[in-house]
Amino acid sequence: MNKKDLEHFQQLIQKKKEEVKKNLDYLRSTVLDSTTREATGDHSAYSYHMADLGTDNMEREKAFLFAARDEKYLKQLEQALERIRRGTYGICRVCNNEIARARLEAVPTTTICFDCKVAESGRR
Ligand SMILES: [Zn+2]
Repeated sequence: MNKKDLEHFQQLIQKKKEEVKKNLDYLRSTVLDSTTREATGDHSAYSYHMADLGTDNMEREKAFLFAARDEKYLKQLEQALERIRRGTYGICRVCNNEIARARLEAVPTTTICFDCKVAESGRR
């Protein structure tokens, strides 16, 4: 991959990273908000508003799941940036061939080419 392409993907990944970070901040504040509410709420309110609490818990659980997913993605994006720095970006970790550009555009964090991915999922 030439320098111009690498720069293109670096920008793409950087942008995604910022989006995910923003989203993660929001999710974290959602989780934090409801946790704080629960911790400071007195017990009478707790029993009177079980229905509300149920929704809250579900929202919190969802936020946790989304946050976990985002954290994982963020890590992958950082690893992709690291690969760009090292000049190994866009190279399949299995066959060492270059990964198709269209695939990288769609999934910039991928470390495996389409053929190897198919072969790998076929083994499962
Ligand atoms: Zn491959």
